[in-house]
Amino acid sequence: MKDSMILEIPALSQNEPFARDTVAAFCARLDPSLDELSDVKTAVSEAVTNSIVHAYAGGEGIVRIECVAEDCTLHIIVSDSGKGIADTARALEPFFTTAEEEERSGMGFTIMQTFMTGFRLESSPGAGTKVYLSKRFGAGGAADDR
Ligand code: ATP
Ligand code: MG
Repeated sequence: MKDSMILEIPALSQNEPFARDTVAAFCARLDPSLDELSDVKTAVSEAVTNSIVHAYAGGEGIVRIECVAEDCTLHIIVSDSGKGIADTARALEPFFTTAEEEERSGMGFTIMQTFMTGFRLESSPGAGTKVYLSKRFGAGGAADDR
C-alpha cells in the first residue's frame, strides 16, 4: 500500500508545530510506537525549523513537506526555495552553525540523522534545500508486539 500527502506552509515559526503534528497524524497509519513517533516529530521539527530560520533570513517563503507511506516506511521530504547551503559537508558537522548569535547549537542535522533510519541533504546556493528523511517502523521486530 502506498499513501501520500503534501503540505505547503509559509515560513513562519508558528507553523513549525503545525507541520510536526500533521506529519505525526499522517504517520499514525503505519502504527508507530510512541518512541518512533517521537523520533519522527523531533526530526521534522528540526528540518522545518531550519527552513523557517535559515532559508529565507526572516523574509517570506514557502516550506513544503511531502510524506509517502509505503509498507512499514515513512518517507519525508522537507524543502524550501531559500538561500541554500554552500558547504553541505560542513553544515552536517555536529556543532556547526551560522547562527551563533541566536544561540543555536548546530545540532539539527545531527539530530535528524540520529533519530531517522534514512537521511540525505541536497542543497546549493540560490536553489534552496531539500532534506530527505525516512523511518522504518517496527524495526525492533514483531516479537515486541506479543
Ligand atoms: P540548531 O539546529 O541546533 O538550532 P543550526 O540550525 O544552526 O542549530 P543545523 O540544523 O545542524 O544547526 O544546521 C547547520 C547549518 O546549516 C545552519 O546553521 C545553517 O547555516 C545551515 N542550514 C540548515 N538548514 C538550512 C536551510 N534550510 N537553508 C539554508 N541554510 C540551512
Ligand atoms: Mg537547525
